[in-house]
Amino acid sequence: MTIYSGPVFEMAATQFGVIADYLAIPEDVRPRILMPKRAVTVSCPIHRDDGSIAVFEGYRVQHHLTLGPTKGGTRFAPSVDIGEVAALAVWMSWKCALAGLPYGGAKGGICVDPSALSNREREALSRRYMQEMIPFVGPHTDVMAPDMGTDEQVMAWFMDTYSMYQGKTVAEIVTGKPVRAGGTLGRREATGRGVAYLTRRVMNDLQLRISGATAVVQGFGNVGSIAALELYNDGVKVIAVSDHTGALYRAAGLDIPDLITHAAKHGSLAGYSSELACDPAEILTLPCDVVIPAARERVIDADVADRLRCRIVAEGANGPTTPDADLVLARRQNEIFLIPDILCNSGGVVVSYFEWVQDLQQLFWEEEEVVRRQYQILDRAFDQMVVRARRDRVFNRTAAMAIGVERVRDAKHTRGLFP
Ligand code: NAD
Repeated sequence: MTIYSGPVFEMAATQFGVIADYLAIPEDVRPRILMPKRAVTVSCPIHRDDGSIAVFEGYRVQHHLTLGPTKGGTRFAPSVDIGEVAALAVWMSWKCALAGLPYGGAKGGICVDPSALSNREREALSRRYMQEMIPFVGPHTDVMAPDMGTDEQVMAWFMDTYSMYQGKTVAEIVTGKPVRAGGTLGRREATGRGVAYLTRRVMNDLQLRISGATAVVQGFGNVGSIAALELYNDGVKVIAVSDHTGALYRAAGLDIPDLITHAAKHGSLAGYSSELACDPAEILTLPCDVVIPAARERVIDADVADRLRCRIVAEGANGPTTPDADLVLARRQNEIFLIPDILCNSGGVVVSYFEWVQDLQQLFWEEEEVVRRQYQILDRAFDQMVVRARRDRVFNRTAAMAIGVERVRDAKHTRGLFP
């Protein structure tokens, strides 16, 4: 029992247990690697538009400081609690280590439904959250980024608030900012672009024809919509998409640019077409080549995993697959190739790292360079995962996580235990 207890942290702990067994990590060393270094809870009061005061609970969890500052997104969602945030911080650590970035993992969030806030309230809450976090974060301590329910604008407010307290611009305090406020070209698209890049790579390896192949995308926010657009531009038929308001299906393929325009204008897919509406619970198990969960955790359980009818699962979301479902997917690995979350969606943190480096150096790169270097890192991590999975005959998630976990374990071992 810890303060993090709950289904999402238990999932991260179960996954870690599998890896720790595989790596034969001694029992007494395991908590040192798994348990977060620090966790902060704050109350964020704001004035509502009607003049009343509302208080929202916010969190930040920093998993480990062994390899450098911590790095991770900030989520605004009603589900956010300290356990969910801690699990996401742990996954960030394995992700950064797998990509070879000089970071530990972190994550933060506010328990709030962002769609119930006006723009002014969203700004007030974002600024108050960052103000409360000032003693705990810093460009060489903990660097925030966007996640579910937050975007470039929220990052600009975070950066501005932090900078006002320092009396100078500190662009490197957050990544995922607008380019005009110190962001990097290619960050907004980075996660979805990486998901699509690795999907294409696996399709080539499996000798699947890309043009005319079919895909399903759950979640139509930053990650899902960009991944869908990239695949659409390659000639893939995206036959179904969903968001929190519902799902759409079209056997001949949906018009993704048109859906993106609609979602930008109306805030969701709602109202696009009643004729194309379908059951969101069924889309992951439609027959297709590629399934991309790009919304929430734990949407592929053992039952869904059993019923999947695709060749590739490309995990755009963090933690979309439960440990029970992993057992099913490991059994079905000759039929379904899994690109695990800590690799598949790592394009986001890779380009966040580039943004941080550019801000620290005040030297900015062309988008072409950002994308080239992003793909280089994704290719390296992908190759390492595949070699490890083949060598030890283990599931892709086991191979990817083991590489991340052992890098953190080895760095801790080399640095020793203070004092
Ligand atoms: P976002 O807020 O931009 O979009 C989330 C999308 O998911 C929205 O379309 C929302 O309607 C949809 N959604 C929410 N609940 C749903 C449900 N029950 N069924 C179907 N759709 C639902 O968030 P995002 O940044 O695209 O993040 C999505 C996932 O990707 C999260 O798991 C996040 O942690 C992960 N991720 C994001 C980034 C990034 O750079 N933004 C990087 C790595 C991983």
